[in-house]
Amino acid sequence: MEITNHVHILEEMKGSYVYLVLGQEPVLIDTGMSGRADKVVKALAALGMQPTDIAHILLTHQDVDHIGNAKRLQELSGARLWAPKGEVPYIHGEAKGPGLRKLIQTLMKVDRPTVTDTYAAGQRIGDIETISAPGHTLDHTCLLYGDVLLAGDLVTTRRGRLHASPKFLAWDLTALQRSIREVGARSFDWVCPAHGEPVRRGNLWEAMGR
Ligand SMILES: [Zn+2]
Repeated sequence: MEITNHVHILEEMKGSYVYLVLGQEPVLIDTGMSGRADKVVKALAALGMQPTDIAHILLTHQDVDHIGNAKRLQELSGARLWAPKGEVPYIHGEAKGPGLRKLIQTLMKVDRPTVTDTYAAGQRIGDIETISAPGHTLDHTCLLYGDVLLAGDLVTTRRGRLHASPKFLAWDLTALQRSIREVGARSFDWVCPAHGEPVRRGNLWEAMGR
């Protein structure tokens, strides 16, 4: 479904959404939970696209429900796979996060992709800008396309309201809260999280449950 100009949500990936941005080049944002690459391919087909049409896959962070199909989609598309620099050892499985994340990364098996490119500060990939937003994980990154914030797990939505991503999953809660303030200082109209439905920003960022 097209949410707004050139930004599509892959509704088949509910639980951990994948977004498709049809800007200068077709870009996938995150890849969802393992074993669902075929759903992404189907969603692309419904738009008259093939996996090889995808030029870039941008990961917001290392968590298994975001990188689950990255390897398979990379193979199918030949796309460049981008990730935040600090997340790469965790995505590659060479390092494990602290606390609960370590347990999740141990229990939930995922085919590890190979990151081909990393974001530099304020990097642009085509017409998408990266915004460093650490806290949920070490080097979590949001993406801004026009007036659409692809938020990753910086925030979630429930029943039309915005919430900070859960405290118990925060790598660094202070950094998370700082990132929410800093990203909130940017101008955007739509918020597209991985978990929960996209919302118009309105005053929701300011009213956010923390
Ligand atoms: Zn996450």
